[in-house]
Amino acid sequence: MGSTDLPAPPLNVAVIGAGLAGLLAARALKIEGHRVVVHEKSDRLGGTWAYDPRVESDPLSLDPDREIVHSSLYQSLRTNLPRQLMGFSDYPFSTDGDLRTFPGHPEVLRFINEFAAEFRLVELIRFETEVVRVERVDSGNDQWIVESRNREMSSNELFDAVVVCNGHHTIPKLADFPGREKWPGQQIHSHNYRVPDPFENRVVVVIGDGPSAVDISLEIADVAKQVYLSSRSPKVKVTKLDCRDNIWQHSKIDHANENGEVVFEGGAVVHADIILHCTGFMYSFPFLKTEGIVTVEEGRVGPLYKHIFPPKLGPNLSFLGIPYMTVVTQMIEFQAKWVARILSGKVWLPSEEEMETEVRQHYQLMEEKGIPKHYTHALQFELDYLDWLANQVGERVHETTHLLLKRYLKFVMEGGNKWRHREWEPNLM
Ligand SMILES: Cc1cc2nc3c(=O)[nH]c(=O)nc-3n(C[C@H](O)[C@H](O)[C@H](O)COP(=O)(O)OP(=O)(O)OC[C@H]3O[C@@H](n4cnc5c(N)ncnc54)[C@H](O)[C@@H]3O)c2cc1C
Repeated sequence: MGSTDLPAPPLNVAVIGAGLAGLLAARALKIEGHRVVVHEKSDRLGGTWAYDPRVESDPLSLDPDREIVHSSLYQSLRTNLPRQLMGFSDYPFSTDGDLRTFPGHPEVLRFINEFAAEFRLVELIRFETEVVRVERVDSGNDQWIVESRNREMSSNELFDAVVVCNGHHTIPKLADFPGREKWPGQQIHSHNYRVPDPFENRVVVVIGDGPSAVDISLEIADVAKQVYLSSRSPKVKVTKLDCRDNIWQHSKIDHANENGEVVFEGGAVVHADIILHCTGFMYSFPFLKTEGIVTVEEGRVGPLYKHIFPPKLGPNLSFLGIPYMTVVTQMIEFQAKWVARILSGKVWLPSEEEMETEVRQHYQLMEEKGIPKHYTHALQFELDYLDWLANQVGERVHETTHLLLKRYLKFVMEGGNKWRHREWEPNLM
C-alpha cells in the first residue's frame, strides 16, 4: 500500500513505548494533528534511561517465566556519547545539572522528562498498560487491532496506524562457546549487572569489547581479584591493561571446562568464578502478529524500508529506533518526523515494489561485501542516513553534529585510558 491510500488525517495512532522513541513519535504525530495514544507498560517514562535497581531472577535471562526488567542500565553508567550529541536538533541537551561531557544516566532521564513536560506528552501516555497484541484487522484492511492490558482490564482497540517504539536493549544475546552450559561458575549478562559488590574477591571473565564491557571491567576491577576481558576481535593482543594491575585483555573463549577452567583461543587458561556476558541484545516484538511478513532473523528486522517501514504494511506499521552505532537521539527525531508527515499525506512513500527492491538491494550488497546479517542495522557512525531522513522533512543535520561526531570518533580511537575514563572536553570553537 502507498501513503496515498491512507484515510484523511487526523489519524488514530497507537505508539508502543514511552522511551525516547515513543516520546519523539508522540511529539511529531501531535504536531501533525494526529490523535495519539502512547502505551507504556511501566509506571514511568524514559525507557532504558529509567534506571531500575532490580535485576531479573535468572541472571542470564533465559527463564521464560521470569519477570522482565526493561532497563539495562548499571548504577554508575555515564553516556557513551558526549552530551552535545545526546539532544535533539531542535531541543538541545540540558545545559545545567551534571555538566560533565559524558553525564550520568539521571541527567538523561531529567532531559527526557523535561522534553515530555515541555511538549505536553505525558497526558498522551497510558502508563502500566502493556501491549500484548498488534495485528491487522484483516489482510484487505489497513486498520490495526491493539490489544493491551493494565491492572484492571484488557482491551482491544482499532487504530489507523501503529508506531512500534519498544526498544531493543532488554533481551540479552549470549556468547556461545563449547562447555557454556556445564561450566560450574556463575554466569550473568550485563542486562542484570547493577553494582560491583557481588564481584568482590572473584576471578571474572568479561566477554565483549563494547562500552559496557569496558566500563564494567574497570568498575569491578576495584573489588575483584582478577578481571579477564575476552574479545572476539581478531586484532586483539593478549596483554595487561596499563591502567590497572588486575585487568588482562584476552582473545575469544575457545571453550569452558566442567572443572571451572575457561580456555581462550591461543591456549591461555584461567580458573574463573564468574563469566559476565557484555554481548549485546536481541530485537524482540512478542506482541506483533504479521503472519511472517516481518521477521527477526540473526539480528535483522525485516524487511524494513529505511529501517522503518515493512513494504507490505507501511506506512500504517512503522518501527522507530532500530538502527544503532549512530547519533541515536537525532536519528529517532528525524525518523519520527518522517513517519508523522507520511501519515499526514504531506510526504509520500515509494510504491511497495520500489521499497521491496531497495531492501533487497541493500541485503544483496551486504552479502556481496561479506557483511553478516546481524550488521543490517549498524550504521557505523556514518551520518548519510540521518542526512537523508532530515532531507525528507525539509531539515538538515547541523554541521556541528557532523564535526563533533568526527572528533568524538577520533577520541575513541586514540583516547586509550582517557576514553575509558571519559576524560574529554571537546573544543567546539
Ligand atoms: C547500557 C546502555 C547504554 C546506552 N548509552 C547510550 C548513550 O550513551 N547514548 C545514546 O544515545 N544511547 C545510548 N543507549 C541506547 C538507548 O537505548 C537509546 O538512547 C534510547 O533509550 C532508545 O530509546 P527507545 O525509546 O527506542 O527504547 P527504550 O528506551 O528501551 O524504551 C522502550 C519503552 O517501551 C516500553 N515497552 C516495551 N514493550 C512494551 C509493550 N509491549 N507495551 C508497552 N510498552 C512497552 C518499555 O517499557 C520502554 O519504556 C544505551 C543503551 C544501553 C542499554
